[in-house]
Amino acid sequence: MFKKILIANRGEIAVRIIKTCRKMGIRTVQVYSEADAGSLAVEMADESVLIGPAPANQSYLLADKILDAVKQTGAEAVHPGFGFLSENAGFARRLKAEGIAFIGPNPEAIDAMGDKITSKKFAAEAGVSTVPGHMGLIESTEEAVKIAREIGYPVMIKASAGGGGKGIRVAHGDDDMAEGFAAVKAEALNAFGDDRVFLEKFIIDPRHIEIQVLGDKHGNVVHLFERECSIQRRNQKVIEEAPSPLLDEATRMAMGAQAVALAQAVNYDSAGTVEFVAGQDKSFFFLEMNTRLQVEHPVTELITGVDLVEQMIRSAWGEKLAFEQKDLAINGWAIESRIYAEDPYRGFLPSIGRLVRYEQPEEGDQGDYTVRNDSGVREGDEISMFYDPMIAKLCAWGETRDAALDGMARALENTHLSGLGHNVPFLAAVMDQPRFRSGQLSTSYIKDEFPDGFHGLTPSPSQVHIIVAAAVAMNEIIAEQDGDPSDRTDWVVLIDKTPHGVTLSYDEDEALLLSFTGGGHARLSDIDWRPGLAQFQAVLDGEPFTAEVGRVADGFSIRHRAARARVRVLRPRLADLYARLPEKQAADTSKQILSPMPGLVVAIPVTVGQEVKSGETVAIIEAMKMQNILKAERDGVVKAVSAKAGDPVAADDVLVEFG
Ligand code: ADP
Ligand code: ADP
Ligand code: MG
Repeated sequence: MFKKILIANRGEIAVRIIKTCRKMGIRTVQVYSEADAGSLAVEMADESVLIGPAPANQSYLLADKILDAVKQTGAEAVHPGFGFLSENAGFARRLKAEGIAFIGPNPEAIDAMGDKITSKKFAAEAGVSTVPGHMGLIESTEEAVKIAREIGYPVMIKASAGGGGKGIRVAHGDDDMAEGFAAVKAEALNAFGDDRVFLEKFIIDPRHIEIQVLGDKHGNVVHLFERECSIQRRNQKVIEEAPSPLLDEATRMAMGAQAVALAQAVNYDSAGTVEFVAGQDKSFFFLEMNTRLQVEHPVTELITGVDLVEQMIRSAWGEKLAFEQKDLAINGWAIESRIYAEDPYRGFLPSIGRLVRYEQPEEGDQGDYTVRNDSGVREGDEISMFYDPMIAKLCAWGETRDAALDGMARALENTHLSGLGHNVPFLAAVMDQPRFRSGQLSTSYIKDEFPDGFHGLTPSPSQVHIIVAAAVAMNEIIAEQDGDPSDRTDWVVLIDKTPHGVTLSYDEDEALLLSFTGGGHARLSDIDWRPGLAQFQAVLDGEPFTAEVGRVADGFSIRHRAARARVRVLRPRLADLYARLPEKQAADTSKQILSPMPGLVVAIPVTVGQEVKSGETVAIIEAMKMQNILKAERDGVVKAVSAKAGDPVAADDVLVEFG
C-alpha cells in the first residue's frame, strides 16, 4: 500500500480524505494556499506545503505547484478530491508520467466523460438512455433557435464543459433561446474557457437521481445504488439522500445496470457517479458522468458501509475490488444537508466572515439515528470569499426515511453558528415540510415551496408551546439570578404581537408545568440553560428540543428549527399596552442600492445623471465565485455613484443613490 498520499484540495473534503488515510496507516501531505495556512486540514495532516496565494488559479489549480510539493515530500499518490484538478486528465497524465499515482480514474476515462457532449455519445453507444436532443455543437443563434424548435420547447441550453450548476439555462421560446444561447456561451467561456454549447429537451418536473459506481484496474465494476439530489437551488444540490423515495427495485436495478455498462465502456477504474434526470413516472435519462468523488458520497457510505475514499485508494494501488454486486445491499436511509455560508433570509446571498461560534452536533449513534458531520472548519475560522461557501455536510442515518429525517432535524437543532449568515434555518424548514416528508421531490422543489424566498416558517402549535415554555423558563431563571424571584404565576408571552396567556406551577419533580389560557398543558423538564448561553435545551412533554436564544432589548429572540420569533414575557396588564405599540419604522433605503454582502465590485454600469429604468442593472458584486447583479427596483435618475470596479465593499455599503 502507498505510504504517503498528497491531498490536492482543501476544506472538508481534505479532512475527509485524511481521516481515511489515518485509518489505513497512510501518511498525508496537505497542500495549502496562504488563506488556508491555519486550516483544520493543515493541522491534521502529517506534513503540509504552501503552494501559493489565496486565489485558486494561483494555488490549488496549479498542477506545477502540486507536482513540486509531491517531489519535495516524496508522496507516492495524489488524491484530488472534487472540483479543482479532480477532473483534469492532463494533470492525471502528468502525474503518471512522473510515476505518481492519481487517485481517480485513468485519464482516458476522464477524457471520455470529461465533457457533456462526448460523454452523451458514449452513453448512447453503451445503451444508456439519454435526454432527447441534439448531440452536436451549435455554432450560431439562428441554428440554436432552429434546433430548439425541432426538439420542442422547453429546451435546456448547456455548456459542454459545464459543472457545478454553471452554464445551464432553460429556454421556453425563441426569444429565451436567442438570449440564453449567447448568455450560456459567454458564461462558459468565462468560467471554463470553452464555449461549446448543446441543446437537449428540458425534462419537466424532474428529479435528480444518480448512481454511484466503483471500478478497479482488473475490469470489475459495481454500483452502490442511487442518491436522490432533487433539492437544488440554481441547479446546485442542497439536500441529498439515499436511497431515493421514487425508485422501485426494478428501476433501481435498471439504472444501476446502465451506469455499470457505461463505466465498463470506458474502462472505469475508480469511484464515479452517473447522473440521471428522472421523470415522476420513473423514466430516466443520462445527464453526465462525474469522474471523481462526489460531494454527497457520505450518504452512500452510510447506507452501504463502504468507505469510498478507501476504495479509491485501493483501486489506485491496483487492488481488486473486495466485493461483488451481490455482496452489496441497502441498509436504512441516509440524508445530507449542505450547510452553506449564505443568508437564506436575504435571498441566499453569500455571507462571509468569521465563525464566531460553531458548535457541531455530536457524531455517532444517538439512539434513533446516527450523525456524521463532515466539516473542514473550526470555531474561530474564517469563511473567505475565495472558495466554495460550504461550511459542512451534515448527515443523519436511520432505519427508515422518517427516522433519518427526524434525526437530521435534531442534528440541525444542535448545530450552532454565528458570525455569518448560514442556511441552517432553511434546511430545518425543509425537514419539517409535509411535501418533503412525503417524498414528493422535484428539482423545482425550492422554487415551488418558497416562491417569494425564505422568511422562516410560522411556528406550529407544538412550536408555540416550545417557544412559550423556553421564554417563561428563561424569565424565571433570570429573575432568580437577579435575586428577584417573583411568585407570580400568571404571564402573557407575546410571540411577535400574538399574546399567549400561561399559568405556571411546579410538579413534585421540579418540572415546570404550563397551563395555557387558550387551552392545553405542557411539562418542561431537564432544562439546560443559564443566562449568557445561546442554546436552550430541555424536554417538553417527553420530547428533547434545542432552541437558539438571545436576549434583545426587552425580551428574547428564540428560534426553534425554522420558526423564529421575538418574544416578551409580560405581566398581563403590560401585555395589553405592548400589543398596541406601533412598530418601529425602518430607515428609508428605497433610494439607495446597497451592497448585499461583502465582496468586490465587478462593475457599476451607470453614471451620475443617467436615467435608469426599473430592472436595469446598476451594480455587479462578486464574492465566493458568485456574481450578484443588483437591479433598479423602480425608474429613477442616478444622483451619486459611491464605488467603482475593483473596490472592496462591506455589506450595506451604499453603491448608487437615486435622486
Ligand atoms: P456534485 O454533484 O458532487 O455536487 P458539483 O457539480 O456540484 O458536484 O461540483 C462539486 C464541486 O466541484 C463544487 O465545489 C463545484 O464548485 C466544483 N466544480 C464542479 N465542476 C467544476 C468545474 N468544471 N470547474 C470548477 N469547479 C467545478
Ligand atoms: P452540472 O455539471 O452543473 O452538474 P448537470 O448536467 O448535472 O450539470 O445538470 C445540473 C442540474 O440541472 C441537474 O441536477 C438537473 O436538476 C438540471 N438539469 C440538467 N439537465 C436537465 C434536463 N435536460 N431537464 C431538466 N433538468 C435538467
Ligand atoms: Mg451534475
